[in-house]
Amino acid sequence: MSTYDYAIVGGGIVGLATAMALGKRFPQSRIVLLEKEQALAQHQTGRNSGVIHSGIYYKPGSYKAKFARAGSRSMVEFCQEHGIAHEICGKVIVATEPHELQLLENLYQRGLANQLEITRLSAEALKEIEPHVNGLAGLRVPSTGIVDYKQVAAAYARIIQAQGGELRLGAKVEQLDIRGDVVTIVSSQGELRARFLINCAGLHSDRIAQLGQAQIDMQIVPFRGEYYELKPEKRYLVKHLIYPVPNPNFPFLGVHFTRMIGGDIHAGPNAVLSLKREGYHKTDIDLCDSAQVLTSPAFWKLAGKNMNEGIKEIVRSVSKAAFVRSLQRLIPEVQSSDIVPAHAGVRAQALRNDGALVDDFMIVPGPNALHVCNAPSPGATASIEIGKAIVEQVPT
Ligand SMILES: Cc1cc2nc3c(=O)[nH]c(=O)nc-3n(C[C@H](O)[C@H](O)[C@H](O)COP(=O)(O)OP(=O)(O)OC[C@H]3O[C@@H](n4cnc5c(N)ncnc54)[C@H](O)[C@@H]3O)c2cc1C
Repeated sequence: MSTYDYAIVGGGIVGLATAMALGKRFPQSRIVLLEKEQALAQHQTGRNSGVIHSGIYYKPGSYKAKFARAGSRSMVEFCQEHGIAHEICGKVIVATEPHELQLLENLYQRGLANQLEITRLSAEALKEIEPHVNGLAGLRVPSTGIVDYKQVAAAYARIIQAQGGELRLGAKVEQLDIRGDVVTIVSSQGELRARFLINCAGLHSDRIAQLGQAQIDMQIVPFRGEYYELKPEKRYLVKHLIYPVPNPNFPFLGVHFTRMIGGDIHAGPNAVLSLKREGYHKTDIDLCDSAQVLTSPAFWKLAGKNMNEGIKEIVRSVSKAAFVRSLQRLIPEVQSSDIVPAHAGVRAQALRNDGALVDDFMIVPGPNALHVCNAPSPGATASIEIGKAIVEQVPT
């Protein structure tokens, strides 16, 4: 049976960044990464908005704030070094209602606390940057950028292989057996051993953590994010990235316009409970996945507290007219006939047993292992920094 120093579960951007960082730090070590799909980056990494976030939203001092700020720089440097198409196009955050002006100001102060360069925009200044946007005021964050994270993941993979690391595709981890200093990993491709395991399984990270006997007080709840795309003849409506002021209680909600690196303009995502962890269509249901959520007291505590927002998101999912109304708050000219459905992604969101959503990145130690149990947005931006942080915590 093959024996490795480090085994990583999950070939998304976090698992790949971790394998790359381990290979750099410990060049003599034997590293293997197991991915259940036949290709890398098939889930969150390949189905996101493609934004290189600057870190304005996050609580100062949190991992998200630190890793987004450092991560956006390291991501841009990485793209420059490896010839990956990217663009620092900047973003605007727009207040469309009077009550949002104070929230916008709070966000400005938070951005300053996170040491970002930000500019306040009057309604006129906003119009100069984004002529079709209707706003009372805005903020401009020039350091925000765009990239295709599948291409970044592919570049990480090439580096891992050049470092001598092994990537096993189509290898689903099904069982873990931890004895003494050795973890035996049973996968759909047979068994292997490792001294240490790093769980970067995204939407399945809680299940891998349980297999690894880690003490976790959370479960993953999958939230689907559905996107529309502006028809090519309407792309002129959006120059940069246009975001609403986030509701501080639900910072990950709020559909926005995002220019993708390929030139498309995406509108979305919403956030609806998915009845399948990798359920990219409204009709996708998995009995085990849905039962796990719907029988969880923590989920019902969350749902009870946030019923209104949840219902609004469901309405936006089933009604294109409702989705368009949300977009019209930012760009009143957008019509239903201007957008067509595009891809969807599913967020792996950790929910604590007490019904609270985990906001920050969460890395939990377990026997001979580290488990990345929450790596939501800006996880792709921050991937190089998350990889480095994990390497600091593994045994040599
Ligand atoms: C809709 C949406 C929009 C987003 N927008 C942005 C954005 O603009 N900018 C940004 O920075 N971040 C964004 N994010 C967040 C970002 O995509 C994630 O933080 C990041 O992709 C997480 O990477 P990951 O490697 O942890 O997860 P994933 O990419 O999901 O990878 C996990 C991998 O583990 C594999 N796996 C699972 N179980 C097993 C098993 N048993 N055995 C073997 N392999 C297994 C899966 O197949 C998968 O490939 C967004 C996310 C979503 C969903």
